[in-house]
Amino acid sequence: MNPFADIKARFQLPPGMIYLDGNSLGPVIKGVEKTAAWVIQEEWGQKLIGAWNTADWINLPTRVGDQVAPLIGAPAGSVMVGDSLSIKVYQAVAAALRQRPERRIILSDSGNFPTDLYITSGLLNSLGNDYELKLVAPEAVAEALDDSIAAVLLTEVDYRTGRRHDMAEITSKAHAVGALALWDLAHSAGAFPVHVSECKVDFAFGCTYKYLNGGPGAPGFIYVRPELIDEIDPALCGWMGHETPFDFSTAYRSAKGMGRMRVGTPPVIALSMLETALEIWQNVDLERVRKQSVILSEAFIEQVESQCSDLLLVSPRNPNERGSQVSFSHPQGYAVMQALIAQGVVGDFREPNIIRFGFTPLYLDLDEVSQAAGILARIVNEEIWKHPEFENRNLVT
Ligand SMILES: *Cc1c(COP(=O)(O)O)cnc(C)c1O
Repeated sequence: MNPFADIKARFQLPPGMIYLDGNSLGPVIKGVEKTAAWVIQEEWGQKLIGAWNTADWINLPTRVGDQVAPLIGAPAGSVMVGDSLSIKVYQAVAAALRQRPERRIILSDSGNFPTDLYITSGLLNSLGNDYELKLVAPEAVAEALDDSIAAVLLTEVDYRTGRRHDMAEITSKAHAVGALALWDLAHSAGAFPVHVSECKVDFAFGCTYKYLNGGPGAPGFIYVRPELIDEIDPALCGWMGHETPFDFSTAYRSAKGMGRMRVGTPPVIALSMLETALEIWQNVDLERVRKQSVILSEAFIEQVESQCSDLLLVSPRNPNERGSQVSFSHPQGYAVMQALIAQGVVGDFREPNIIRFGFTPLYLDLDEVSQAAGILARIVNEEIWKHPEFENRNLVT
């Protein structure tokens, strides 16, 4: 019995599809299309520019931030929504460097998501040659922390393997050497309980189109530890982060509190849809989500391994060391995944040979997971993936 059956009914899911890719793009929550139509026809359509005030568009980034806050263990007023996650990474790293002007190194791990690394390198390059992005193996992060490090930048859950860092432990070690702790929650927010306040995280950021079901390209979020926010000197000084944007002053003066993490005009339609999508969490206990996610992923691993010996588990075997995804490797992983998708089981592929499955208890039942494991085992055992059609590479894998 699915403990979230009533919530599942609020998702619009294509009949016959078993969706194991909510860690990449969450499905549609019923009602967001009505929100989008309302914003377009009634607010934009009827009120035009006046809607910034009369429909309170101007405060959407703050309002939606307050919906995200409890999902990551943050107090109200400490999360701002807007821009892509990549931009939020830039803001956090730049702000952290300004907090530690005598230090020059950002520490990250080789499993981090490319955009986090690219954005950081780009930023450091623009600052001059004496800055460095230091990468170590995920297991070696704690021991690489010393007083040369300005900040440690990590993604809590590895996008390929699902391996999960110990946020409390690494954050506390970072603080012990005077470094700041920056966490990417792309695969955490909405997947399990996160405790940014309790762990004393300095900056956290994430996207809202994966486990938070905000829709393709839905804006990202950023959290700043409340004790830090008034010291933050924003690198991206957009007019929407100004204390009084409508004074149109030529000099930048940052807004009080989280307002300074705003940049430019917010994506009103996307934010409105996200606001509706996030309503689903009002009655969801993330501890229960986590418990059910472990049940689903343990069942999947057990059933895949018992039916098929050609897939190698690349995720940690201990569920306490995983996020909410499970990955296997297969030398022909891309073709295996294409064959699986052709049979209605949707996961995705990551280089070089990883097939990846996300577990999202709000809309995924245990019997769907069992069916998916059976279909996957048959595709591998009967070499169904060998059909040439499954070799064609799409742009997005
Ligand atoms: C999905 C993901 C991103 C994506 O960043 P965008 O700017 O939204 O494209 C960044 N970091 C991590 C860890 C991700 O998993």
